[in-house]
Amino acid sequence: MNARVIELRAKGVDVFAFGVGEPDFEPPQAVLDAAKRAIDAGCSKYTAVTGIAPLKKAICDFTEATRGWRPEPANVCVSVGAKHVLFNLALALYEPGDEVVIPKPYWVSYPEQVHLVGATAVLVDTREDEGWKMSPAQLESAMTPRTKAVILCTPSNPTGAAYTEDETRALCDVLRRHDAWLIVDEIYAELVYDGFRFVSAAKIAPDLRDRMVIVDGVAKTFAMTGWRIGWALAPPPLIKALDTVQGQSTTNAAAVSQHAAVAALGTPIGDFAGIRTMFQARRDAMVAGLESVPGIRCRKPEGAFYAFADVRGLYGLEWNGKSLGTDEDVALWLLDKAHVAAVPGSGFGAPGYLRFSYAASEQRIAAGIAAIRKVVEEAWRVDQTIRTRVEAPR
Ligand code: PMP
Repeated sequence: MNARVIELRAKGVDVFAFGVGEPDFEPPQAVLDAAKRAIDAGCSKYTAVTGIAPLKKAICDFTEATRGWRPEPANVCVSVGAKHVLFNLALALYEPGDEVVIPKPYWVSYPEQVHLVGATAVLVDTREDEGWKMSPAQLESAMTPRTKAVILCTPSNPTGAAYTEDETRALCDVLRRHDAWLIVDEIYAELVYDGFRFVSAAKIAPDLRDRMVIVDGVAKTFAMTGWRIGWALAPPPLIKALDTVQGQSTTNAAAVSQHAAVAALGTPIGDFAGIRTMFQARRDAMVAGLESVPGIRCRKPEGAFYAFADVRGLYGLEWNGKSLGTDEDVALWLLDKAHVAAVPGSGFGAPGYLRFSYAASEQRIAAGIAAIRKVVEEAWRVDQTIRTRVEAPR
């Protein structure tokens, strides 16, 4: 898909990039200023493996302000992005024979990281008509004596689904009956819409904090994907293990990026309202647009910046003498004919769906939707002609 996007762009084609998982705007000016100041102040040396003290403090303050519970600096390990946090956790926690429970659809790296260290990913099917959420009963039946951890992502990449306070509490109740880690990826926690109240599992179940890890970072909320700063909030013994693992690989996250992250986390909490309002309008435009296309259905997600659309209604339409039969077919077809890039759901364990990122302006979303509608409506017209022709002799 990506190779085809590059090919089209090289030909001068304007591709609608609804495939990428990153904001389309720049980080706050304070972030850029802080980074420049850090360079001028000579912040060009190694730092402590788990991060500089001002960043750890900023992370604790930010967590208290946004999630309503306060970790201590000893609970923090800063890494090279949230993906690196999760990879360090895999190295520190899992070994062959261990099982890690992951709801499906999942963010691609969760099961892959589990496989890389020789452990087993236990995938739990969730359903669109149940909001793409794992029920307590499903979690209970996935747990075995070999379960080392459960990974939750809320709001979710790729579905945008977010667990309510009650739903998270019910999952914590299940965890309480088992001896396993709970890892919650909260990287999209600030990006929730329609007044959705995000409540962290660490706030809901403080008694589980000694076997809970909150994964977070600056990439999404502050549009800092390239700065590579994420962190784990975990009990001190696990932070020590992460320190050991990271000390033998990357050492610290880049010093300048750490200073930039301090500035990002200092953003007044009220500023998130503006970002939420902007993304909510984009979500509404994307979801309503996709729903207006005959053959596509799309659930309205609670958060993140992804619309996860069911495209199975397009199966059977003709393209290049073949009929569309998979989400990959539909994705390649839309890329080729409408110049719209979206990610096939198969990669997330959900064939039949496409993930459309709405981290794009409303104008771009509207133009992209119009392009999709045009090729789909044209395909339906051709399809009708074929059906009439085939059915005519009868
Ligand atoms: N978790 C989820 C759910 C994500 O979507 C992403 C980014 N796509 C990450 C973690 C990784 O974030 P980072 O850029 O901080 O490594």
